[in-house]
Amino acid sequence: MPTDQLPADDPRRSTPRTDTVLADPRLRTAAESLGPRIVKGAVAGALERCRAGELAPHDVADAAVAALPPAATALRPVLNATGVLVHTNLGRAPLSAAAVEAIAVAAGATDVELDLETGRRGRRGRSALAALGAAAPDAGGVHVVNNGAAALALATCALAAGRTVVVARGELVEIGDGFRIPELLESVGARLREVGTTNRVRRADYEEAVAADPDVAFVLKVHPSNFLVSGFTSSVPVAELATLPVPVVVDIGSGLLAPHPRLPDEPSAAAALRAGADLVTASGDKLLGGPQCGLMLGDADLVERLRRHPFARALRVDKLTLAALEATLTGPAPPVPAALDTPLAELRRRAERLAADLHAMDAEAVDSVAAVGGGGAPGVDLPSAAIALPERLAGPLRSDPVTPVVGRVERGRLLLDLFAVPAADDAALADAVRRAVAAPPTAPTPAG
Ligand SMILES: *Cc1c(COP(=O)(O)O)cnc(C)c1O
Repeated sequence: MPTDQLPADDPRRSTPRTDTVLADPRLRTAAESLGPRIVKGAVAGALERCRAGELAPHDVADAAVAALPPAATALRPVLNATGVLVHTNLGRAPLSAAAVEAIAVAAGATDVELDLETGRRGRRGRSALAALGAAAPDAGGVHVVNNGAAALALATCALAAGRTVVVARGELVEIGDGFRIPELLESVGARLREVGTTNRVRRADYEEAVAADPDVAFVLKVHPSNFLVSGFTSSVPVAELATLPVPVVVDIGSGLLAPHPRLPDEPSAAAALRAGADLVTASGDKLLGGPQCGLMLGDADLVERLRRHPFARALRVDKLTLAALEATLTGPAPPVPAALDTPLAELRRRAERLAADLHAMDAEAVDSVAAVGGGGAPGVDLPSAAIALPERLAGPLRSDPVTPVVGRVERGRLLLDLFAVPAADDAALADAVRRAVAAPPTAPTPAG
């Protein structure tokens, strides 16, 4: 309906024109940094509210400015107060400041594949690969692909297409979101020969399977990184598998390059390689604390063969990943390993300071138990500290317009666990709590 046919007091009559709002200098500047699409979207939303009578005409430009995202992505930075250190839904490992800076450096044209001295083509990502080689001195060769699953897929495709992979039944794990290791291996053409039972497997089981099939490409050992089998169990260590007459590939999952004192049962690349593994695969964005990528570490000739395989090209990492991985390995400790090394007393001190600061909000410092998460070390309790708040703040904190905070609800209280929150973010956390307390009530949060 044309606006002049509307009743005189209808808010739609006085709704400003899109062009008029877009002429606001703040929105013109934003269009340059964010692009016109995002700005038009924000203006359209504000005009819609004005037409509905929710917004006065002279407030439309302010509302559009307030609705603009800080960057040209709908992704928001979030404070991980869940107490789950490597949280898949929150993007796993947060990068170190050094890695973020390295990404910015590499974002433009960069010498990722050029030798600036000679002007000739250089080995792609050579400095990142050199850093990885230095950090994993037991590996004769190293290669990097897009993620842990890609590393396993490449090894299987290059070594075992149309052949047999021997793997323990208890290690045929689902890694998340319905993706299963056995189906991944079969999807690139390998036949699986399962040995042992859900809870037990012996060296003799592997030996028989290898003897019975002349076409075994390798024995695969997969670390059950997201569950525990306890009770009457047995598995075969890498050192014993290495005495079989076929190569041994070990998927350690978490990406620990060397053993970590707090995670004694978590396998490391160094331990697996020293025990005789021919190839180790792992993720870069779990306990290593780097960007999403898949690490392949092992025998030099074998790794070179994998690197030259045609499928390797389809799994190639970009320059941003290479830059971030290099800084992760050579720079200061990234947030994930730094969190593992933070003394409990320091977490408690921070929780008490925050609770005192938020005294008026019913905040209380409490002991908590954090976990590594799907990234590894299942069953390992990490003593931590949290602030406890009324449960009803969970929703408002998650949807905080400045700093969304994700905590966890436990026994009727919202816990903001500090294990995975950098100390530098405590003030932002406190500010978010104050805003959440002042926010109008929201719909109840889903359980879990
Ligand atoms: C996490 C994990 C994977 C999958 O790695 P992505 O980097 O997520 O592809 C595979 N195997 C194990 C043992 C893991 O823990």
